[in-house]
Amino acid sequence: MFSSAQGGDAPVHISKKGPVMSTSTSTPHEPSFRESVDIMFNRAVALMDLPPGLEQKIRVCNATYTVRFGVRLRGKIETFTGYRSVHSEHMEPVKGGIRYSMGVNQDEVEALAALMTYKCALVETPFGGSKGGLCIDPRDWEEDELERITRRFAYELAKRDLIHPSQNVPAPDMGTGEREMAWIADQYRRMNTTDINAAACVTGKPPHAGGIAGRVEATGRGVQFALREFFRDAGDVKTAGLAGSLDGKRIVVQGLGNVGYHAAKFLADEDGAKIIGVIERDGAIVDADGIDVDGLRDWIGKHGGVADYPHGQFVADGAVVLEEDCDILIPAALEGVINLSNAANVKAPLIIEAANGPITAGADEILRDKGTVIIPDMYANAGGVTVSYFEWVKNLSHIRFGRMQRRQEEARHQLIVGELERLSAHMGDQWSMTPNFKQKYLRGADELELVRSGLDDTMRTAFQSMRDVWHSREDVTDLRTAAYLVSIDRVAQSYRAKGL
Ligand code: GLU
Repeated sequence: MFSSAQGGDAPVHISKKGPVMSTSTSTPHEPSFRESVDIMFNRAVALMDLPPGLEQKIRVCNATYTVRFGVRLRGKIETFTGYRSVHSEHMEPVKGGIRYSMGVNQDEVEALAALMTYKCALVETPFGGSKGGLCIDPRDWEEDELERITRRFAYELAKRDLIHPSQNVPAPDMGTGEREMAWIADQYRRMNTTDINAAACVTGKPPHAGGIAGRVEATGRGVQFALREFFRDAGDVKTAGLAGSLDGKRIVVQGLGNVGYHAAKFLADEDGAKIIGVIERDGAIVDADGIDVDGLRDWIGKHGGVADYPHGQFVADGAVVLEEDCDILIPAALEGVINLSNAANVKAPLIIEAANGPITAGADEILRDKGTVIIPDMYANAGGVTVSYFEWVKNLSHIRFGRMQRRQEEARHQLIVGELERLSAHMGDQWSMTPNFKQKYLRGADELELVRSGLDDTMRTAFQSMRDVWHSREDVTDLRTAAYLVSIDRVAQSYRAKGL
């Protein structure tokens, strides 16, 4: 099965020429993913005035739990290795996805957990950072086998409070989706039958199992909102050459999984952008006339890859398409795909990191020197955790999201409609209110509309906080450093207020 179709928060299938940091040995000077995150953190911290020792406290991961458990499968005992790392508990619960991939290791989950801390602080979701992973290729197992493995992993984590509505709340990530989250929620509920808040132990659940509308596409939607906000603001001195709008922009996307697919689809369908390249596990498709995103996604679902897709041009070494001439590059797959081996050749003037950590610290430096603008991961892919927050609040409030707001809105709309009716009567034939208009006004917002507008608002506000630092400080030359400054400052304030 094409695993990214499961709806996790990051796709799996990409083609890569350069090394993936956490596993690579071919580029000696490339730091590990964890080191790369720390290098970027240190750049920002050097511009801050934190009390002695606090910077170290914020940077390090508090704890990483490793579990090895056995499951009897196909007549033998299979042993699996899993992790849950807690980076910072300055706010609880801690939050972050669970990844299923053969590349999972301690360095990776710790780097991802750290990014969750900074991401949550930037978009002001009241969580600390955490991340989990299981070394498994989900495609190797049948659905019922995956369920048993997932339930056992969930059991191991839940009995140590590493899944818990008020302490640690996982979510989908690469290789996992709604299905796995439903199994995890059910496993937790069975272990905690008297916990009235059990549903809030994990987010990204299906809508009929306590989930929220719009969570599956949330990360891709967030990428779209981030780009819209960027272009609303672009064209000044720090984004020289990037003025204009999304309309007609030529985009290359790496990874057509949950995040890449939704981002590409929304940008093409709703903003007039043209997807001219899609990089996947087995190669890439390039088409200057624009790729039909749904058509290609269906093809991948049926054939397992992009090869033989009847439109555009197939490029067997997909990673070279990262170097394609385009306006926007969207790496939406693995970490470390833009690294020392290819950064100098990347032509896109704007990169938005839909994946976590797709650009290594070394590559970041090369790109900054070239003047490439990078919209950093901790902001760009924060749509997922933002909507997870809405889901968690919905679960804890035990009321359908929007039900309260709807009553308030209806009352407000009734007032407006009353005024309009009076106006209508007064103006006679010249102006009259159509029943449709009245109906729309009275309907109020449904859950999806509320989620979408809440996400849009969050992405705008977070961009402005990052942008203000970027624009107001001469020593801040890139958005990533600005994002770190905002989030580290918020984490530091929280430690100062509450103590360690
Ligand atoms: N896995 C996603 C991320 O990297 C979502 C995390 C969440 O919703 O808690 O941001």
